[in-house]
Amino acid sequence: MERRVLVAANWKMHGQRLQNSALISALLASLARVDIPEIVICPPGIYLPQLQTELENTELILGAQNLFTQEKGAYTGEISAPMLADYGCRYVIVGHSERRCLFGEDDELIADKFVAAQSSGLAPILCVGESKEQRESGLTENIVTAQVAKVLQKVGVGAFANAVIAYEPVWAIGTGITASPEQAQSVHELIRATIARQDESIAGQLRVIYGGSVNAANASELIAQPDVDGALVGGASLVAEDFASICRSMSKKANA
Ligand code: PEP
Repeated sequence: MERRVLVAANWKMHGQRLQNSALISALLASLARVDIPEIVICPPGIYLPQLQTELENTELILGAQNLFTQEKGAYTGEISAPMLADYGCRYVIVGHSERRCLFGEDDELIADKFVAAQSSGLAPILCVGESKEQRESGLTENIVTAQVAKVLQKVGVGAFANAVIAYEPVWAIGTGITASPEQAQSVHELIRATIARQDESIAGQLRVIYGGSVNAANASELIAQPDVDGALVGGASLVAEDFASICRSMSKKANA
């Protein structure tokens, strides 16, 4: 089953207008004349209008880091899916571990965000992953399966035809410690199998991407794994040459 590789940049709470422009220009220059995978740039919400303009007439796609469940109303500080769509977003990250850990988001809320995203035509990038303690206690499979199952229960397997799952072990995010290619593959396989139990064809098409200290040096061996379909990149996405190098390494599988 051919799945187009997807590499998403999560800028988190970084950037300013001038830096954003410089980063995108350098990235585009570095990617010119190279076969590239599907590349999604997720800036902080306030810069979505700027990035919509910067990405116009390029192959880079705009995504958001978060959204709220409701379309509109008295929800001070929140941004809705129709607002993201209004600025040209096509993807939105849902359930990032920083949202789960720092902002108390649970599987129920994350499933509601997943539904809200799709209601406005956005593809959710659903993040799942275990903590260090959970891995050390042998709970990785249980945790990841339960996180996927909770959303699956709420949205139904059909919804995964227009979604991406990002396996992001919490212990690997922003730590410089990457899951080994074998560790990543084994969890990606488990995620695909969880979806396949309900629909094999959707599971076969589903992109399962890896996140957690992906860099220019480890991208090739990660993408070489059969169930790794791309990456969600934090820190390294803020350095044009590093992110371009990850995209180049990951384009190879797409064109294999
Ligand atoms: C992330 O923000 O989702 C992430 C994986 O960050 P980093 O690449 O910095 O580990």
